Amino acid sequence: MSEIPSRLPIFPDSARVTGGMLTVGDIPAAALAEDFGTPLLVLCEQTLRARAGAYHRAAPDALVVYGVKAFPNVALLRLFASLGLGADVSTLGELEYARRAGVPPERLVVHGNNKSDEELRAAADAEAAFVVLDALDEVARAASAGVRRVLIRLTPGIDADTHHAIRTAHHGSKFGLPPEQALAAIASARRAGLDVLGLHVHIGSQLLETGAVAMAVDWLAGFAAGTRERLDWTPDVLNLGGGLGIRYVEDEAAPTIRHFVASLLGGVERAWNLHGLPLPRIVLEPGRSLVGDAGMTLYRVGVVKSASETRTYVAIDGGMSDNPRPQLYGARYTALLANRAQEEAAGYYTVCGKHCESGDVLIERVALPEPRRGDVLAVPATGAYTLAMGSSYNGVNRPAVVLVAGGEARMIRRRETLDELLAHEV
Ligand SMILES: *Cc1c(COP(=O)(O)O)cnc(C)c1O
Repeated sequence: MSEIPSRLPIFPDSARVTGGMLTVGDIPAAALAEDFGTPLLVLCEQTLRARAGAYHRAAPDALVVYGVKAFPNVALLRLFASLGLGADVSTLGELEYARRAGVPPERLVVHGNNKSDEELRAAADAEAAFVVLDALDEVARAASAGVRRVLIRLTPGIDADTHHAIRTAHHGSKFGLPPEQALAAIASARRAGLDVLGLHVHIGSQLLETGAVAMAVDWLAGFAAGTRERLDWTPDVLNLGGGLGIRYVEDEAAPTIRHFVASLLGGVERAWNLHGLPLPRIVLEPGRSLVGDAGMTLYRVGVVKSASETRTYVAIDGGMSDNPRPQLYGARYTALLANRAQEEAAGYYTVCGKHCESGDVLIERVALPEPRRGDVLAVPATGAYTLAMGSSYNGVNRPAVVLVAGGEARMIRRRETLDELLAHEV
């Protein structure tokens, strides 16, 4: 059973297997686990730079803002800012990450389906390029908070082919405004003196094809033709959100950034020309496709337990506290034993976490060499929506994060201490 060639491409770009050892950023994964402890989220700088570069090359004239919620981290935001990216934030907290990283205001987009007055004021104080209005009552509240430049978020009623929890533009979504309300929002925002610069749509996340976004683009062009007719207004800016998916397991395929963006931009040009509309400036908000496959998580193997004739558990020192995606979305993952990456698989194993929940299973079934206590298990494609959605369930402290490149590892988030875990107790 030779599984390595098909599995390695899911790992970060710099991942290699040499002498049976998995390395990333020219550092053996087992050494990272030893030096920084486990669980450890490892981010590959080469991959981060490559993904950011791919967006810039695919859309040289677009503003590309990183969807901060995928993994909020100041050092990461600084790196992205140095590469010309901005930030898409949706809370006071995410805005603070962006400000500490020095993301320039002209590259700042503020979202949220239920922004507080404080959040609207903070967006105004930050002089964010765009505040994306998501409700009718936000018009007056944004204006009195001092917000100037806005986009209107639309709900086209399109069902993206993804998990229902990350579908966001279907009929009945909590996000955005259906067309009639959006028209009313545009009109009232202009009356309120806001600079209504354009439209926004984000149809969902982990999209593995371009069909639904292409439909949304056609729909938006029709909507823009309608606003020209009814309000004598057309969007100067078109924010198409994020959503491009990544490959998590061997039997999955994802479009490349180049292909996904080219089909979006091509679609905008065709649809806008068809309606004779002036071409808008494009904003893109990728999250997962910038950081997801740059990340991998290292765990230490503990108990290996044969639970039935057909199931052997490999228990790791983390689980749903550092990656709740299997529980939230039925997400699938694969893994390698980092310290014995070239050994023949001995069978199929179930990787479970250390939490007091039977559902705390990270991988249902993965072929591995016979796992032993102390082995380092490397799980790829964990850069997005893992720690960001994690918890300290069972009183488990949050893991450290390192950025690796060219043989050097830089800690970009410290492991939480037990004192910090208990810091809010009174
Ligand atoms: C979550 C989100 C994004 C990023 O989505 P990805 O699927 O991670 O690319 C972008 N824009 C908005 C409005 C979002 O809610």
